[in-house]
Amino acid sequence: MARIVMKFGGTSMAGTERIRRVARIVQRQQAAGHEVAVVVSAMAGETDRLVNFCREANALYDPAEYDVVVASGEQVTSGLLAMHLQALGCKARSWLGWQVPIHTDGAHAKARIQEIDSDRLIASMRSGEIAVIPGFQGLTENNRVTTLGRGGSDTSAVAVAAAVEADRCDIYTDVDGVYTTDPRIVAKARKLSHVTYEEMLELASVGSKVLQTRSVSLAMKEGVRVQVLSSFIDDDAPAADTLPGTMIVSDEELEELEMERQLITGIAADKNEAKVTLTRVPDKPGIVATIFGPLAAASINVDMIIQNISKDKGETDVTFTLPRADLARGLAMLEARKDDIGFNRLISDSKVSKISVVGVGMRSHAGVAAMMFKALADRGINILAITTSEIKVSVLIDEDETELAVRILHTAYGLDAADEAA
Ligand code: ADP
Ligand code: ASP
Ligand code: MG
Repeated sequence: MARIVMKFGGTSMAGTERIRRVARIVQRQQAAGHEVAVVVSAMAGETDRLVNFCREANALYDPAEYDVVVASGEQVTSGLLAMHLQALGCKARSWLGWQVPIHTDGAHAKARIQEIDSDRLIASMRSGEIAVIPGFQGLTENNRVTTLGRGGSDTSAVAVAAAVEADRCDIYTDVDGVYTTDPRIVAKARKLSHVTYEEMLELASVGSKVLQTRSVSLAMKEGVRVQVLSSFIDDDAPAADTLPGTMIVSDEELEELEMERQLITGIAADKNEAKVTLTRVPDKPGIVATIFGPLAAASINVDMIIQNISKDKGETDVTFTLPRADLARGLAMLEARKDDIGFNRLISDSKVSKISVVGVGMRSHAGVAAMMFKALADRGINILAITTSEIKVSVLIDEDETELAVRILHTAYGLDAADEAA
């Protein structure tokens, strides 16, 4: 017998038939003798719809009220799943974020989980009841509802798994595992049987939205075993958790499995960044701090930064990227400080895309970045900015070339699945 937390995403919960299927998957896990808690997302598209209502209500909406509105999508699906489970004869009940409670900090719309009171949940699971918990939501110390940022139900599931000391956290979604790149973009993407926490963390943070980045860092920190699986299976298929998904493992476990290491594990694309250039900035100490200090103070995360070599005039151009959603705010902030910074022009471009290649294999291999630059150059794709880490190389390119670049790199690093017909 194991204790398992199962998480179902928006597409898996989109409508009566799909929730019924989810209920059957959950019922089978319990029937196999396991203690089960389920974390659910809102129905696909519902959170977007609710966010739109907030925007229509007031462009400068109160984030605390935004949380009250957007958290409601998960309340609906958790109640419905409990009903479907009861209809199958299972003992089940919903536990809203405030009922568990799931304690978070007060950063509305991007709150962090601080603690989960797990005693009552564990008692309920032990008694054979299935605990159904809405993902994405929590409660501040002042009893206000919070949400964890888009895609946050993954993080709720991992946090619940850590709190109830589950043997595993199974993330059920609309693909049957983590692939070498988004299988909806590259048909030849290959499913990975295992991926390390570190690689998954990098992949998620550079745009592979199959798992929310924070869920991976939490799983890594708490040592939660996470598996990615498909909920789109037939009733007569083998038990869902025996189907091959992707297991997230430590570096040491991967070594023990003696799996052949690829140079690159995966490729991700991110269309959520924008590029900003300040021209003819005085090349003197303190200027970069004058540019980036206020952005940091406003919680705007700057990612790639390039400063051109100063020419003899003592001036330089500074280019950087920031989240597209923060572009207008960032530009207004820089414009307001034009005199302090002393730049000539402020230029922005939001039609850019960041393409990243990730793999622990690159630690022991030189030339990964050079291969990337050459493959893109051979197809005439211009690189606007570059950043690297120990296990990742990212380049910024024109947004229109995103899909092409991902395909080219997937082939260049030998990741394409063998042709079925071959
Ligand atoms: P859920 O609603 O279940 O949380 P998401 O839409 O958040 O599902 O995440 C699943 C999607 O992630 C897939 O449909 C797929 O298009 C996308 N995706 C992006 N990169 C990858 C990858 N490397 N492997 C698998 N899926 C990926
Ligand atoms: N429903 C939320 C969202 O769409 C949380 C989630 O599904 O993970 O972002
Ligand atoms: Mg998701």
